[in-house]
Amino acid sequence: MTDSRLATRWAGFGTSIFTEMTELARAHGAVNLAQGFPDFLGPDRLLRAIEAHVGSSHHQYAPGNGEGRLRRAVARAVAASTGVERDPTTEVTITTGATEAIYATVNAFVNPGDRVVVFEPLYDSYAQAIAQAGGVLVPVRLHAPDTEPGQAAGGWAIDWDQLDAALAAGFRLLILNSPHNPTGKVFTEDELARIAAVVRAADAVAMCDEVYEALVHDGARHVSLSSFDEVRHLVVRISSAAKTFGFTGLKIGWATAARELSSAVRLVHQGTVFSTTPFLQTAVAEVLEDESWMDGYLTELRTSYQAKRDLLRAALVQAGFDVPAVRGTYFLMASFERLAPGRSDVAMGRHLIETRGIAAIPPSAFYARPPGPLPWLRFAFCKRDDTLRRAAAQLQRPTT
Ligand code: PMP
Ligand code: GLN
Repeated sequence: MTDSRLATRWAGFGTSIFTEMTELARAHGAVNLAQGFPDFLGPDRLLRAIEAHVGSSHHQYAPGNGEGRLRRAVARAVAASTGVERDPTTEVTITTGATEAIYATVNAFVNPGDRVVVFEPLYDSYAQAIAQAGGVLVPVRLHAPDTEPGQAAGGWAIDWDQLDAALAAGFRLLILNSPHNPTGKVFTEDELARIAAVVRAADAVAMCDEVYEALVHDGARHVSLSSFDEVRHLVVRISSAAKTFGFTGLKIGWATAARELSSAVRLVHQGTVFSTTPFLQTAVAEVLEDESWMDGYLTELRTSYQAKRDLLRAALVQAGFDVPAVRGTYFLMASFERLAPGRSDVAMGRHLIETRGIAAIPPSAFYARPPGPLPWLRFAFCKRDDTLRRAAAQLQRPTT
């Protein structure tokens, strides 16, 4: 029960689906393929750097906008992956994870009543940040592969009519998450070019959440919206160390944007957390600076995640789920339409925990307006191979 004095802008929000499913998984002793966190350690190279920096760091407030060493390392890494040069002094801001960068960006640009366009299904913290700013969430549907437009486009298809309507009505901010949680979609260059034209025409700001930038499969290429010339000055690009290094507890993120946009984001960042743990920042910087190590690490990371995806996908397909293409992130969406026609995603999630000892996320939690019953569950494959094999064995139990 929440206190009745809760500010009205938070009404309608409860405990996050990720926390809820993790607690349910614990209570049932289920394999947790729900919340997206690895059940293995990230690279030893970073752990050793953290240990060394705990000993040598100053342990006082870091500079509000981030340790200079990390801002420089981030600017170099962002330039290498996107071709966009950002000035580490004025255009790179270090935040407490991508979550804080999202909050700061939305609250920096959205006034009460402003319209914010978000592709749906959408990551939960966008809706919370928009509500906090008093903005109006304008969802643009990604049509599922089992719907007519989704089938025609061969995957999660943008509803261009909804995007055009949003442009006609005007909007202040567009939120794009690619590679996309929960669908695993990697937006194509053609889609991005069209989105860039819409953002430009609206003269809006685009917040691009690229936390899964390193996790692309089958040779897919992640392209940043910020690399399109006509919107470079309008994009706040967000990423973090959490997914790339497999340590979601680090909470070291960054927002890179043109100077004027950056100073707006910095203002909100200053008013919320002010600054972020210094030794974690410099440790991440040290690892990012080691470019040849990073190249080898990222290649290995992709190979290992692709194998994990294949392992889980094969087990789900064998158990009767349908799993469309997954080009990015460490999530996959699986349809249970053939296994349990008409059952809701929430009911199927509960059923899977109770009968198979496996926790997944019911994706209706990712919709502002769920489009009727969703025969989908989201599974995380950022787990040890033995965890995935245990899940595979449990999936072979009888279905109903
Ligand atoms: N954006 C998306 C799409 C995510 O899935 C996550 C994962 N938690 C985040 C942002 C948050 O990143 P961080 O842990 O760095 O706050
Ligand atoms: N991003 C993670 C997921 O999608 C969860 C983050 C969280 O628990 N807040 O599963």
